[in-house]
Amino acid sequence: MPARVSSTPQNPADDTAVFRDPPNMFSLRAKKALVTGAGSGIGAAIAKTFSRAGAHVIVADLNESGGRHTVSEIVSVGGTAEFVTLDVTSETACQTLGREILAKHGPLDVLVNNAGIGAVGTLLTTSGSEFDRMLQVNVRGIFNVTRAFLPAMIERGAGSVINMASAAGLEGLKDRLAYATSKHAVVGLTRSAALDHAKSGVRINCLCPGRIETPFVTSRLAEYPDREAAYLEMCSTQANGRMGRPDEVAALALYLASDESSFVTGAALAIDGGMTAGSGRF
Ligand code: NAD
Repeated sequence: MPARVSSTPQNPADDTAVFRDPPNMFSLRAKKALVTGAGSGIGAAIAKTFSRAGAHVIVADLNESGGRHTVSEIVSVGGTAEFVTLDVTSETACQTLGREILAKHGPLDVLVNNAGIGAVGTLLTTSGSEFDRMLQVNVRGIFNVTRAFLPAMIERGAGSVINMASAAGLEGLKDRLAYATSKHAVVGLTRSAALDHAKSGVRINCLCPGRIETPFVTSRLAEYPDREAAYLEMCSTQANGRMGRPDEVAALALYLASDESSFVTGAALAIDGGMTAGSGRF
């Protein structure tokens, strides 16, 4: 191993990080994590995965029945979780929840900004109000929730914020103008916030999934006259020819949440079956 140049500033993690042996890696024992949009799909898978890794999970969703279902699934296998109703578009609600969680649990260890919506449309077929709504939920929602929890994480000098972007945050997507715009903004927000707070001990990253089979995608499929053809077309946009599963995305979220990702910040990690690796036309 090359000798260290001792006059360069040392990353505090050099001295403090304790890496576990592989079987014990990625533990979230004694950590508290809040996951927005955890009442369905990818968010529910992340909440359950984090719980299995030992975290206490706060399931935040606009949809109470979905959120409570996720909590009951976690509790039924011996985990601990609680449900909070949250509309991420309400700055006031986010601030109130931030104060309540801080008083009850102290600073979060992990915040996952997963709640999001989608819509079909081009620049000409998307209405102004649809466009505004998309940015309100997918971008302003992350802004609102993160502002409510980040100050306490910074004060403690540790934490991991994980934002849900999309492969459509790295490349354009046909007929999804507002969605792709919002997800490009999530990537920009993530990278900029990571730079602003890089020395605080809080890491901020985002995930860029390709198509993942969740209610989000199945509701899109219902809009097509030939669902089977639409399903196959969606599968074919991944280089490996299939859609991903929510638990595959949850595994990458677990890595970012864990101390094993201590040198990762400002990253936009693709998890997309090769969708953004190249066009495949060469
Ligand atoms: P989903 O529709 O199954 O779940 C989304 C959850 O977010 C729902 O429980 C919903 O109630 C909640 N939600 C929506 N608006 C909210 C609001 N204003 N406040 C609080 N909660 C709200 O969707 P999913 O497929 O699990 O997607 C989750 C995230 O992953 C989204 O950000 C989505 O854009 C992103 N994503 C999904 C895919 C995919 O193919 N499924 C691909 C890339 C990125």
